[in-house]
Amino acid sequence: MKIIWILLFLIVCQTDQYKFQRENMVETQIAQRGIKDKLVLDAMRKVPRHLLVPEKIRPYAYDDMPLPIGDGQTISQPYIVALMTELIKPNKDMKVLEIGTGSGYQAAVLAEIVKEVYTIEIFESLGIRAQRDLKALGYDNIQVRVGDGYKGWPEEAPFDAIIVTAAPEEIPQPLIDQLAEGGRMIIPVGDEGKVQQLVLGEKIKGKFRTRFISSVRFVPFLRDFER
Ligand code: SAH
Repeated sequence: MKIIWILLFLIVCQTDQYKFQRENMVETQIAQRGIKDKLVLDAMRKVPRHLLVPEKIRPYAYDDMPLPIGDGQTISQPYIVALMTELIKPNKDMKVLEIGTGSGYQAAVLAEIVKEVYTIEIFESLGIRAQRDLKALGYDNIQVRVGDGYKGWPEEAPFDAIIVTAAPEEIPQPLIDQLAEGGRMIIPVGDEGKVQQLVLGEKIKGKFRTRFISSVRFVPFLRDFER
């Protein structure tokens, strides 16, 4: 009996430790760097990032950097997730498309705020794992699809916002087409190995206009015939 209490105590300590690390992450990496949207800050306080990364790297889950998640891919740095989420001006009525599910973390942050999230991952192993983990965490407003996100998700279009978390050389036209009027797209654009540009696009009166946000480095946007 005593051993059970000791085990329970250890589990509670560990859970609290991750909560503490998460609070610290939001304060020092995100709020102090200028992210103000309360919905975004609250969402990042909630999502258990450590449960969406491979077990081996759990102790580093709240560090200020991207981390490897398998198949040569990464989970984005927390600040970048917060920045991209804030830039689409999320609200509870929105339907959002994400390209590049990866760990599922960005999708979970979105799902805390918006009504529906559709997310596409090109690597089957990652897509299946993310789907399983997100379901286990109770996110029933996220749909995961395995495939090439270049083509978007036409059956569910239009989307109020699109977040792309891998860098193509140019913005895929099908994604522009699937953006709703007044919708926003945040996407890193540029060649692999070079510094890429994080771009915010907006569709106003049918016209898609972009503006530069910052220099970034993302994994390349792959096509299904390239893998
Ligand atoms: N949003 C992710 C970040 C993952 S990194 C997270 O929160 O963890 C980018 C992901 O995009 C990788 O998993 C990569 O496999 C995926 N990817 C690259 N090209 C893609 C494409 N054409 N369609 C869908 N996913 C793609």
